[in-house]
Amino acid sequence: MKSSSLLLLGGLFFGGIIGCQSAATQDTNQGVSLQLKQQALASSLSYDIVESLTVEVGPRLAGSDKDLLAVKWAEDKLNSLGFDKVYKEPVQVPVWQRGEAKASVISPYPQPLVVTALGGSVATPAEGLSAPIVRFTSLADLEAAPDQQLKGKIAFMDNITPRYRDGKGYGMTVGGRSKGAVAAAKKGAVAIVIRSIGTDHDRMAHTGMMRYQDGVDKIPAAAMSNPDADLIALMLKRDPNVVVKLNISAENLGYATSYNVIGEVTGSTKPDEIVLIGAHLDSWDEGTGAIDDGAGVAIVTTAGHLISQLPTKPARTVRVVLYAAEEVGLVGGKAYAKAHQAELDKHYIAAESDFGAGPIYQIDFNVAESAFDAIKQHSSSMQANNVELGGNKASGGPDVSMLPSYGVPVASLRQDGTDYFDYHHTPNDTLDKIDPKALAQNAAAYAQFAYLMAQSEIELRPLVRK
Ligand SMILES: [Zn+2]
Repeated sequence: MKSSSLLLLGGLFFGGIIGCQSAATQDTNQGVSLQLKQQALASSLSYDIVESLTVEVGPRLAGSDKDLLAVKWAEDKLNSLGFDKVYKEPVQVPVWQRGEAKASVISPYPQPLVVTALGGSVATPAEGLSAPIVRFTSLADLEAAPDQQLKGKIAFMDNITPRYRDGKGYGMTVGGRSKGAVAAAKKGAVAIVIRSIGTDHDRMAHTGMMRYQDGVDKIPAAAMSNPDADLIALMLKRDPNVVVKLNISAENLGYATSYNVIGEVTGSTKPDEIVLIGAHLDSWDEGTGAIDDGAGVAIVTTAGHLISQLPTKPARTVRVVLYAAEEVGLVGGKAYAKAHQAELDKHYIAAESDFGAGPIYQIDFNVAESAFDAIKQHSSSMQANNVELGGNKASGGPDVSMLPSYGVPVASLRQDGTDYFDYHHTPNDTLDKIDPKALAQNAAAYAQFAYLMAQSEIELRPLVRK
């Protein structure tokens, strides 16, 4: 077959699956997408952005002064990078202060432990509390314990987080962190200490959010480092009566106003239709919030910037959303969905970058089954950036995870997170953990994704999974 007939067939094929978009338009789309990829890979902008955020702002816990400084930083950054519109939207966020956390074994083998308070935890009495600890290897085991088994005791959740490229080990153990305090208090416990939800062996504890429940005693909650959890388990093998002392001075201080910060590149022909790429601006307070989620902020901001510099802007508006207060309960994501409910039917697709800076190896979608093959075909130039075209099952990322319930299609650009949970929510979440090349590959993938989605003529609704 001659190449001209192949081209003709190709055109017919594209025409058949994606309706009115011509083969020539498709060629232009893929050409611009590849050009954006090249520009992102050749640019240091993404690394410069995360360096700027971690150096000039640093830790930015929701509701803190640094959080407001981050909001100002984000507005200035977006304004300096060619976005057509930059604005912020208020979000009420819970305010929690970490204070000090200390722990030690009192008996039978007295020695200090490395712990950190879990986000949202109440304080211990000022003089601390001492109690025997009782070990559980899963939340299910704790929930199945006899009533009053923990009366006057400290629950010890010793559940090891396994390492996976896609990070699924976190999902297996994080319930012990978020729900452990309620489960333990129901059994009469006076506190809970968990093995850090992390894959490292550093003597450093991983913080993260925990929750209380109305009508259940609010008991202090802390995480200990993985080596300390090993130590306690070995002590319990020698003597079932291990007494631990815990001092936590954390405080819940009500609510404050923070902001979702938004930058837009206005669409050329369908400006009211939106392709949303997001990340979260807040961070935990112990590191500098480089991988979680300075990286995501840098990735989506760079993608938006590169699209803003194109001689012809894409059809739809590309909206970069830097969410407030993800860490303390997806607060900014929920506020966005509420504030924008009336225009959610104009959101073509959404994706959030919130898994560090490891290279993206695959893109998954959550779109109509009838649209899936076509949108994969439309995204084919992302393969040139080592991104495989994956399946039709995606959550889109934490702050956009609620959008499919409103019918909004989402995509997940899967990052290699093999080492993500070594550093996540620790003082070790710092800039040196980011490989500039991998970060640029992420920015390239988001630039290609946002552009291609903003140009697509494929109907992505209705979703199979809401
Ligand atoms: Zn995050």
